Amino acid sequence: MEPMTIREILEAVDGKLLGEFSDLDLTVKHVFTDSRNPDPGALFIPLVGERFDGHAFLNEALEGGAAGCFTQRERESYLPGKFYIKVGSTQKALRDLARHYKQKFRIPFVAVTGSVGKTTTKDMVAAVLGERFKVLKTEGNFNNEVGLPLTLLRLNSNHEICVVEMGMNHFGEIEYLSSIVEPDVAVITNIGDSHIENLGSRENILKAKCEIFSHMDPKKGYVILNGDDPLLEPLRASLPFQSVLVGTAEGLDYRATGVESDGEKSVRCHVRTPRSGFDVEIPALGNHMLYPTLTAAAVAEHFGMTGGEIARGVLRFAPTKMRMNILKRGDGITILNDAYNANPQSMRAAVEVLSKSGGDYKIAVLGDMFELGPFAPTLHAGVGAYLGKAGIDCLVAVGELARHIYDAAKDAMVPQVYWCETKEEAKPILAELVKPNSTILVKASRGMAFEELVDDLKRIT
Ligand code: ATP
Ligand code: MG
Repeated sequence: MEPMTIREILEAVDGKLLGEFSDLDLTVKHVFTDSRNPDPGALFIPLVGERFDGHAFLNEALEGGAAGCFTQRERESYLPGKFYIKVGSTQKALRDLARHYKQKFRIPFVAVTGSVGKTTTKDMVAAVLGERFKVLKTEGNFNNEVGLPLTLLRLNSNHEICVVEMGMNHFGEIEYLSSIVEPDVAVITNIGDSHIENLGSRENILKAKCEIFSHMDPKKGYVILNGDDPLLEPLRASLPFQSVLVGTAEGLDYRATGVESDGEKSVRCHVRTPRSGFDVEIPALGNHMLYPTLTAAAVAEHFGMTGGEIARGVLRFAPTKMRMNILKRGDGITILNDAYNANPQSMRAAVEVLSKSGGDYKIAVLGDMFELGPFAPTLHAGVGAYLGKAGIDCLVAVGELARHIYDAAKDAMVPQVYWCETKEEAKPILAELVKPNSTILVKASRGMAFEELVDDLKRIT
């Protein structure tokens, strides 16, 4: 962050100084919200959640070295030499500070939303842009009303472009995030079933994602949509922005052709764009990787990059932890660790990767997918049926909802199927099943913490 004075911060968040502190010219160079990691000289922002209240840790943060803090409440006493800025809501103050700070940077902002593949797309876009520009991107999955402002507050004068991820699980959330970022380029990766529990239908999910356009300038705005997505493709005609469609269908602006994969470490294809054509090697598995790559190509060409730069940038992409990480044990056993999260779309994509992988014996270890509400049984059953089509040899389903995967997989004639209520029950079954030259996919929603099974599989002898 570039230093900001207390005076500037007070104005940006419409705050009031409490206590004795009066040095308005003091500057702050960092902002933090986790009192366990005090940042000397920084501004501590205590957030209020359902289960916690950061105000309980004000003293800890200030004694740990923070220069001062925001607070929603007046206090009985104030630590000497520390500043306390009273605000109506610390979360809104964080937003207002980020929005004010962002205005100092006359650089393009690229925002990515969608049901599946936001982080993957954000990372690919940043990797490709990084071939020419100094890029700030969302770290990991910091994509909500807290993570996004914190990301923007990391901007500094060296950055030439900023790529952020926007997540949501209810209406209004993307609008909130978009009002802070005011994107120059907006990407919607696809419209799937994630968070359908809160929103009710795919059409509503589409509507919620479209909030990303609400703070874009029609004269400058540039939009990139997945042209293979039945809800996004028709959207283009109604948009008041310059836009492009990416995908594999004929006639799309950015199109992948001649797709090939070694099933081991990469996917190759030819990318045709309105301006050029070039070959790329994507250092990750699964045909779903084509979309982040084509999106990155569209963003990069928008900012004047060449096909050569784009192809080199794509090679810089590195998948994040627990997102389809390929772990090879010395004895020919391969583990596809996709334990980070799951929803119906990414489950299928992962099963497709498993089905195309090398390995004589393909095991899918799949767990519950959350936040699907009344659609959960059908959507889990859909995955089970797909296992049959994809020629998977064995399923180990874990969890209450995963029972529907198991039932459907049995009907779809998957040769070996097991269901366990808990991970503990699954461990001995896996120990029995795993044999040389097996490939094992491990995937479930975050709450299932399937990394525990990955750790176990790494050790099984
Ligand atoms: P979250 O809502 O957790 O932020 P996300 O939208 O950021 O999720 P990613 O973390 O990029 O999504 O990807 C989640 C999973 O979906 C990964 O397993 C990834 O390999 C897979 N995936 C990525 N892109 C696609 C796609 N277009 N279609 C299907 N699966 C995909
Ligand atoms: Mg994400």
